[in-house]
Amino acid sequence: MHRITAPASRANTEKAIISVSTNESREAPALTFADLGLSPKVLSAVNDAGYTEPTPIQADAIPHALAGKDVLGIAQTGTGKTASFVLPMLSRLEKGRARARMPRTLILEPTRELAAQVEENFATYGKNHRLNVALLIGGVSFEEQNRKLERGADVLIATPGRLLDHQERGKLLLNGVEILVIDEADRMLDMGFIPDIERICKLIPFTRQTLFFSATMPPEITRLVGQFLQAPVRVEVSKAATTADNVAQRWVKSGSKPWEKRAALRDLIVAEGDEIKNAIIFCNRKTAVAELFRSLVKHEFDAGALHGDMDQSARTAMLQGFRDGKLKILVASDVAARGLDIPDVSHVFNFDVPIHAEDYVHRIGRTGRAGRSGKAFSLVTRADNKYVSAIEALTGQTIAWHDGDLSELVVAEEDAPKQRSRRGSRSANKQKPPAQNKPAEKPARQARKKDVVEAPEEKTTVQAEKKTSPEPKKPAKPQGGRGKPHGKSQPGDRVPVGFGDDVPEFMKAGL
Ligand code: AMP
Repeated sequence: MHRITAPASRANTEKAIISVSTNESREAPALTFADLGLSPKVLSAVNDAGYTEPTPIQADAIPHALAGKDVLGIAQTGTGKTASFVLPMLSRLEKGRARARMPRTLILEPTRELAAQVEENFATYGKNHRLNVALLIGGVSFEEQNRKLERGADVLIATPGRLLDHQERGKLLLNGVEILVIDEADRMLDMGFIPDIERICKLIPFTRQTLFFSATMPPEITRLVGQFLQAPVRVEVSKAATTADNVAQRWVKSGSKPWEKRAALRDLIVAEGDEIKNAIIFCNRKTAVAELFRSLVKHEFDAGALHGDMDQSARTAMLQGFRDGKLKILVASDVAARGLDIPDVSHVFNFDVPIHAEDYVHRIGRTGRAGRSGKAFSLVTRADNKYVSAIEALTGQTIAWHDGDLSELVVAEEDAPKQRSRRGSRSANKQKPPAQNKPAEKPARQARKKDVVEAPEEKTTVQAEKKTSPEPKKPAKPQGGRGKPHGKSQPGDRVPVGFGDDVPEFMKAGL
């Protein structure tokens, strides 16, 4: 079955980590949930959820979590890791009651969406329990959260900032916490939450059980584990830096100017046509998310956006629309999209090659889930070479080019000014591959036409959206994104505009 090793080389034997490595090819017969020691109430809810057998992280982590041990889980989203801590927590919470302002368990999540998603998991798996679950996230009022805390929370799910706000206001005491879950720890690190996490850990009794999850283990996270976990059992389901075999990945050469990248992306989307069931497009910066979203909507693609500057209701509505299939394309930043449970995404597009190679793995992990096939295209400019090499080194894969590599682009970019000066020469344009040789508006029109032909239902959605947008031609108005009722901007829902009022004339038609 599983190999359990306690590495002797660790200096601090008291905090030695016991490793449970999951063998790729399991020799033992498949475990059932009943084998894991979960309570009948939990087993019944899991059965109702339609799960027949535990995923590897669940099979490995749940028995240790039920035994009260600290667990270090190295697993990405999509592996079933949420249930691997929610299910044992539910079983353990069956004894005892919560007291006012003293939650019994605490789950820390880096983003509001992830916190809300975990709350949904408690609703599903905890349907046979009468537990008070409180969600403490930013962007919503304190009052309702205070009421829930006052009533006594069995489970508190929180983002670090809002949790500390409540604690500092004296509305929350953490010395009754029996189980602490720190989820997506490496993302917490990226978002600068580690000092907050350290503060929170120090407010919780040393005798607690800690369940700690991270997709990767950078040194800062290893340090945190050494500091706050007691002799944890390390459970690792797969190497963090692997991409699924069932995802077809391609680099796609692109000019480096934003309009060139947008044109290249539109060409790709159109070329994939009906194969795109739904897609997430990743950008490195939230300003780029907003710009690209506006451009796609202008080109009548059925797109929405998810980034950190949007207020909570807009983010929730956007995500729900995408989950329900009402929205086909979601433009997102890493932070906003990390860990979101969106099953069955057919395509991932990287509008920007991620600067951190590990982000590539996470982005690609949004498609090809649960054994389905997926496609991932990444636009690459000449400046991205070093990131491309880092990604290939990390994943141990050489990713093929979609339609020629960057060496061909050098010629195309040198040609570009000539193409623009020969505006009347349509036949010359036709002979070239579209994305690299034409000004932005050419592929845009092509894209629009094909999109309408191939996906008439998407056109309907776009038109409906347009009715809510009084001045679709004016780009400078802040816009929160599709999916919000009445298309009105919400406070904090700023969408920066790429060129402000200085949009070059030649781009105005094709932006
Ligand atoms: P997570 O990694 O926690 O985000 O879970 C990814 C998806 O897997 C979620 O949609 C879960 O509902 C689903 N899931 C979790 N555990 C199981 C299981 N044992 N069998 C089938 N699906 C599962």
